[in-house]
Amino acid sequence: MSAAERERIDQLTALLQKADEAYYTLADPIMGDGEYDGLYRELRALEARFPQYVHADSPTRRIGERLEGGSRAFVHSVPMLSLGNTYEQAELEDFLRKVRRDSGDHVRFTVEPKIDGVAVSLHYRDGVFSVAATRGDGLQGEEISHNIRTIRSLPLEIPAAGAMEIRGEVYIPRQAFERINQQRLEQGESLYANPRNLAAGSLKLLDPAQSSRRGLQIFCYSLQGFPHDSHFQCLQTLRDWGFPVSDLVRQCASDAEVWDAVQHIRQQRELLPFDIDGAVIKVDQLHLHEELGTTAKIPRYAIAYKYEAQQVSTRLRDITFQVGRTGVITPVAELDPVLLAGSTISRATLHNFEELRRKDIRIGDQVLIEKGGDVIPKVVKPIMALRSADASEVVPPENCPECGSPLHWSDNGVHLYCQNPLCPAQRLGALLHFVSRDAMDIAGMGEKVVQRFLDEGILTDIPDIYHLVYERVASLDGFGVKSALNLQASVEASKAHPLERVLFALGIRHVGKKTAQLLARHFGSMERLMQASIEELTAVEEVGEIVARSIYSFLREPASVALVEALKRSGLNMESSAPRAQVASGLSGRSVVFTGKLSRPRKEYEEMAQLGGARVLSGVSGSLDYLVCGEDAGSKLDKARKLGVAIIDEEEFVRLCSAE
Ligand SMILES: [Zn+2]
Repeated sequence: MSAAERERIDQLTALLQKADEAYYTLADPIMGDGEYDGLYRELRALEARFPQYVHADSPTRRIGERLEGGSRAFVHSVPMLSLGNTYEQAELEDFLRKVRRDSGDHVRFTVEPKIDGVAVSLHYRDGVFSVAATRGDGLQGEEISHNIRTIRSLPLEIPAAGAMEIRGEVYIPRQAFERINQQRLEQGESLYANPRNLAAGSLKLLDPAQSSRRGLQIFCYSLQGFPHDSHFQCLQTLRDWGFPVSDLVRQCASDAEVWDAVQHIRQQRELLPFDIDGAVIKVDQLHLHEELGTTAKIPRYAIAYKYEAQQVSTRLRDITFQVGRTGVITPVAELDPVLLAGSTISRATLHNFEELRRKDIRIGDQVLIEKGGDVIPKVVKPIMALRSADASEVVPPENCPECGSPLHWSDNGVHLYCQNPLCPAQRLGALLHFVSRDAMDIAGMGEKVVQRFLDEGILTDIPDIYHLVYERVASLDGFGVKSALNLQASVEASKAHPLERVLFALGIRHVGKKTAQLLARHFGSMERLMQASIEELTAVEEVGEIVARSIYSFLREPASVALVEALKRSGLNMESSAPRAQVASGLSGRSVVFTGKLSRPRKEYEEMAQLGGARVLSGVSGSLDYLVCGEDAGSKLDKARKLGVAIIDEEEFVRLCSAE
């Protein structure tokens, strides 16, 4: 049984080692980011199940070298602190006052734009670019040298000896962002929410050729390792060396000058070809940075002044309804297109019907919309003074806009649901959720692939995942035998995932990852969970009345029962991974090894032993307590005799299991 898994572990270990070498040493990747991730996760899952087969040099053991996304971890020699920030002029004045109180009136400040991008650290050694990393959590980021090199405006050599660290913000201009999203839209790929997300995603690409097409740009804002007294001077040196430095940087002696500079940058905001979200105010004299120091998390010598979220008004033309994965209906505002924070907005979410009622938003209203940070634009409120007599209230739909089934209100009257499990709008979402990382974790089934499988009729519903015809998958354009086999391996591996994952994957309303774990631990198996009453369900930690009802009714819906049955038939694991409660036995705390031909399946005995509190080992050593010996035992028996280990037969083993 486990021979196949052992072979797969060997195979994956060798393959991933080769991929690591190709990527790091030869700088010539042999596989893509996603493919590596998928194989890596498969290996990790197998290793967790068969720790006895783990190779000492397994790629999963190189802790810290690979992060999510397949890059290498990088520890910052000087932590990359984030800045304290404020939206209030009074708080900014407070900051200036405190600095002057602690450092004297001769303090100067620099004011520079806060680019809305990704902070990076660049290292140069004896004048040559050596390595670059993202900020990460400030202490440890990801190495991204290969992608930083693609930024043409960045000098790779500088006229300075020794070790220099230069920090900057990588960004993507708005125009490039729009172009890339347009292309993705045409290719049916998911869109990036904003230029910052696109920049972050591009920095993590494994293929530098691909990231170079994204048109990454950088502004540098700090230089460490070069003797200077002033931050402003550092920026000047960076400029002289050819680094891009913002033209909007100002050196200010008085508080009034600081405020003027902050306002000046705010006025320029709309005109800049890239996004900024505020201004950074820093003490200019570098020796004062050390004197002022840092609090636990943020430096005392700098602060970010953030510009408020931008708002704009437009006419709400109509309200449409979207069906989500769980069947929830979300009202969406269809707007007269309007420019907001650099992008054209024509739709905004209205969240739910309760909010719609509370804000009294009507079709035909002039509404205020807002975009703050990276969130989807939202409707703040209707402008009542401009409401026309014919503005009409929204009538919630009675039938699902996708499948026509009658809709149901949630108990609290906030949400409207389509409860048809075969609703096409829910099908794609339900499939994507089922295969997602925290659920069944099936690599190679992204949105594009699932949509394609649906279009081609390869998939219609969740149980089909376990009956894929891989010959057909392999024959699809752009697929091939190798990716079909990888998909198959990933699908097969998912069958072993414990109950908590299956539960989460089913997408039961109100059952998130945590609740699924608690339920699995409490009930141990799908069978017991399916028989649980609402009362028994509410006995589970963190499960209240609403959640219990949701689980109860889901597990009694014929469509869900059929789904669970189908998955069970496909061989999915319906047991919890948490250890079952052990019973006291004569084996508690002892170690056992089985050998020879036994009258019952070995797995059954192993489970009995574990249930009795024993540890089941695979090899005989002097510290072993019992060797359970069947017929035709060989070398293990000899060894146990030599070492003086207690040798017992099946009967004795069963007796010990039941003895207290
Ligand atoms: Zn529907």
